[in-house]
Amino acid sequence: MTDSASPILADEAAIEDAAELFRKAKRVVALTGAGMSTPSGIPDFRSEGTGLWSRDEPMEVASLSTFRTHPERFFHWFRPLVGQIFNAEPNAAHTALAEMENPSRAITVITQNIDLLHQKAGSKNVVEMHGSVQSMTCTECFKKFEAKFFILEFIESGTIPRCSNCNGILKPDVILFGEQLPQTAWFDAQRAARQCDLMLVAGSSLEVLPVAGLPMQALDRGAHLIIVNNTPTYLNVRADVVLMKDVSTILPEIAKRAIHG
Ligand SMILES: [Zn+2]
Repeated sequence: MTDSASPILADEAAIEDAAELFRKAKRVVALTGAGMSTPSGIPDFRSEGTGLWSRDEPMEVASLSTFRTHPERFFHWFRPLVGQIFNAEPNAAHTALAEMENPSRAITVITQNIDLLHQKAGSKNVVEMHGSVQSMTCTECFKKFEAKFFILEFIESGTIPRCSNCNGILKPDVILFGEQLPQTAWFDAQRAARQCDLMLVAGSSLEVLPVAGLPMQALDRGAHLIIVNNTPTYLNVRADVVLMKDVSTILPEIAKRAIHG
């Protein structure tokens, strides 16, 4: 039997090792990136050739300065993306992660995704490094709004969402390029990374600092490290288990063994 005919069989030993680390773990951190959501149909707009956009465009159009100077350009870019995000469902990787949580094994999810799919899958403790599409804030009076109503109307009409209080433009509470990471989320993420006994990197190539440095903080304090990602990361050499495969294939296999093994 060839590797491609049976990818799971070929990775069986590594999957079992990963499941064993989960069975022994008390405090897990799962650090997730765009690769976690691509199986749900959300394009990784930072990767070349994978989405609706060229590689350089989002850096500019999804930046804080473009939002401030040409909000219509940002919203034009955001419209198809936010539509995909609102229609997306959690995939098998999100579900597997949520299912491995139990009273004796806490799982903190630190995510770079803005799509709320971990919460939809049932994960209880999610730290969002780049915010989410849950809410929007007025750029004039700073009133906060539940995003759903505004976003659905915006997807329908394309009209830029405005504050019902002062008519200011509403900015989605997602972190744009050139914008600071939210302080509270960053502190929570560091604390979780330092206190965990197992870190799982899932669907992240660990390319964007400072988040990419979190697994080092865990390793420095003796935590185990599992990496499940399609492409290599700088920490593959330090990981206990590396599976260079799609998260939606691998995480359910790990969960099945961690839960029932
Ligand atoms: Zn306002």
